[in-house]
Amino acid sequence: AALLALRSVGKSFPNGVTALRSIDLSIGEGDFVSLLGPSGCGKSTALRIIAGLTMPTTGMIDWQSGAGRQPSIGFVFQEPTLLPWASVFDNVWLPLRLKGVSRSEAAPAVTGMLERVNLAGFEKSVPRELSGGMKMRVSIARALITRPRLLLMDEPFAALDEITRFQLNDDLLELWREERFTVVFVTHSVFESVFLSSRIVVMAARPGRVFEEVAVDAGYPRD
Ligand code: ADP
Ligand code: ADP
Repeated sequence: AALLALRSVGKSFPNGVTALRSIDLSIGEGDFVSLLGPSGCGKSTALRIIAGLTMPTTGMIDWQSGAGRQPSIGFVFQEPTLLPWASVFDNVWLPLRLKGVSRSEAAPAVTGMLERVNLAGFEKSVPRELSGGMKMRVSIARALITRPRLLLMDEPFAALDEITRFQLNDDLLELWREERFTVVFVTHSVFESVFLSSRIVVMAARPGRVFEEVAVDAGYPRD
């Protein structure tokens, strides 16, 4: 079943730049979809529109499950955007805290999530003590702690070295296989999109152009 569909979604900015002309795209429940294309083709804009962070100028997002309402969403940016003075534990607790869950109530979930992203034992560390890859793991844990149905990732591993990126790719895939949240993953790496995705959406090189092509099945074993 489809989780959401972009219907003739377009975006022009006040400065006259057309980032997206008109996109039609359906994303299935449990899919791992890559939005693949070069810098400036509108990938981040499409992702931000799905997240509700940017309004489209034309078209709409059709939420097809959950009675037309946007489901819970986790967002992972390229920059980890962690609270620098807060511990790893507190960074991951934050989304639950905002929902009124106390530290002690949250503890089993936070500790469990840190184990899932291979950060057991780093609860008390602060971000500046961590490598780039570890900070990214904290960001992923923070995004997943509320158990979102949809995880949006904007070039999350682009700034990391290749070995770290491979490890994170492997670990993300394992989390996705176990939990089956839906992922929309923005990348300009063909390699990464093929390794990760159940589906690749290729976006055209020039900003403002429509999708050249949609939905190449990467052939990844689904179960
Ligand atoms: P990508 O993620 O593929 O690199 P973006 O979605 O970030 O592409 O950007 C698509 C186009 O829209 C680019 O030409 C970019 O410069 C432009 N753009 C993005 N955000 C804004 C903005 N807030 N104001 C004006 N132009 C923007
Ligand atoms: P093959 O040649 O058999 O297709 P590769 O040489 O592409 O395999 O990859 C060998 C191993 O490296 C894979 O089993 C995988 O675990 C790992 N690997 C390859 N690409 C990636 C990636 N983008 N991220 C993480 N691991 C990767």
